[in-house]
Amino acid sequence: MTQSKHLPGGPQVHYEADELMMEGVSLKEMAQAHGTPLFVYSKASMLSALKSYQDGFVGRHARVHYAMKANSSLAILQLFARHGCGFDIVSIGELERVKAVGADLGLVIFSGVGKTRTEIRQALQAGILCFNVESVAELDVINEVALELSKKAPISVRVNPNVDPQTHPYISTGLKGNKFGVAHEDTLKLYQHAQTLQGIEIKGIDCHIGSQITSVGPYVDAMNKVLDLVDAIEQLGIRLSHIDFGGGLGIQYKAEHPPSAQHMWGELFKVLDQRGYGQRQIIVEPGRSLVGNAGVCVSEVQYLKPGEQKNFCIIDAAMNDLPRPAMYEAFHEIVPLTLHERTPVGVFDVVGPICESGDWLGHDRSLNVQVGEHVAILSAGAYCMSMSSNYNTRGRAAEVLVDGSSSQLIRKRESTQDQLHLERLLD
Ligand SMILES: *Cc1c(COP(=O)(O)O)cnc(C)c1O
Repeated sequence: MTQSKHLPGGPQVHYEADELMMEGVSLKEMAQAHGTPLFVYSKASMLSALKSYQDGFVGRHARVHYAMKANSSLAILQLFARHGCGFDIVSIGELERVKAVGADLGLVIFSGVGKTRTEIRQALQAGILCFNVESVAELDVINEVALELSKKAPISVRVNPNVDPQTHPYISTGLKGNKFGVAHEDTLKLYQHAQTLQGIEIKGIDCHIGSQITSVGPYVDAMNKVLDLVDAIEQLGIRLSHIDFGGGLGIQYKAEHPPSAQHMWGELFKVLDQRGYGQRQIIVEPGRSLVGNAGVCVSEVQYLKPGEQKNFCIIDAAMNDLPRPAMYEAFHEIVPLTLHERTPVGVFDVVGPICESGDWLGHDRSLNVQVGEHVAILSAGAYCMSMSSNYNTRGRAAEVLVDGSSSQLIRKRESTQDQLHLERLLD
């Protein structure tokens, strides 16, 4: 047997007799059955990630509201709903997804800086738990829409605690100078204003400091700043029934070692207990940490193209399937589905077929592969399929969920007909 290297992201993805497995299923068999590119997810991995939060919440009043923009496939939403999750949504389309799986609309939180009147109206009619408000202007619009419907809109204010989560600038959201949240110093005024609005019911406070955060420190800082505000707001006689600490916990792409959710929440509840908030209703909105390490993207090697400066391994997955490298220069581990002893091993830039130099999946990767064989792009469960597009008129990939030794197709491959059917030829 060849030496199998350490793979990021937990035991569900592993080599067995030189073949890459997802739980008890051979990924090569999945590729043969469903074609490529193909996303394959581990149910056990998702549930164990969720359980880590839930274990950290024992004896508390805390709930996970899955931030579905990380991966909004219906079967995945169903799985999380069945295991006690609410949802964090950022569009009315995402609310439709919650409805489509029959989950509890009363456990939905609506985040985002640009909610339209139509979206606000529909969410109010659906009876969601809370709007996370990001500006005075938005608060006023929510109030107007609620009054039109003779309802009271439940709201939290998303505050910007101005802590540096030490992550990529594109995915840090809690610093001054980005578009999210209300500045710390403006928060009290906003709560006092909210109190005067007949269409508004103040429920809580919210923050979300960024994504792919790999240490507890930024969360402790943000928590202390938010609790300072809670103290001040409640001194004004405004009672907050919940405190929402957002999402953002990181996963392993390469050699990161983020804390487990259970460990992190152990630390954070110490802070909450010290400050007298340990028995409050706590909300969290994780996305990536629930699904990111649970998914791989399986792709077939199309061509090996030696070059003067670089060798290219051209595969059938591309930036439209998996935009994170092109968007954020993100790293995803890429490994062969079958380990070989062959020499020499090539060093390649792994790229897709799209007509853009930015269409790459990995730079300078040592890979022992030949044309017609397959690779897996790891840690591809979050912000891959949900960010995919039809660029170059490429159909979106199929998705499979693995459970032990069985598997189920949860999304068919998109056909060109699927893509064309909304378009109309000139009269
Ligand atoms: C994206 C987002 C999340 C989830 O972030 P992750 O890093 O995937 O955990 C949670 N809350 C809000 C408001 C978001 O925008």
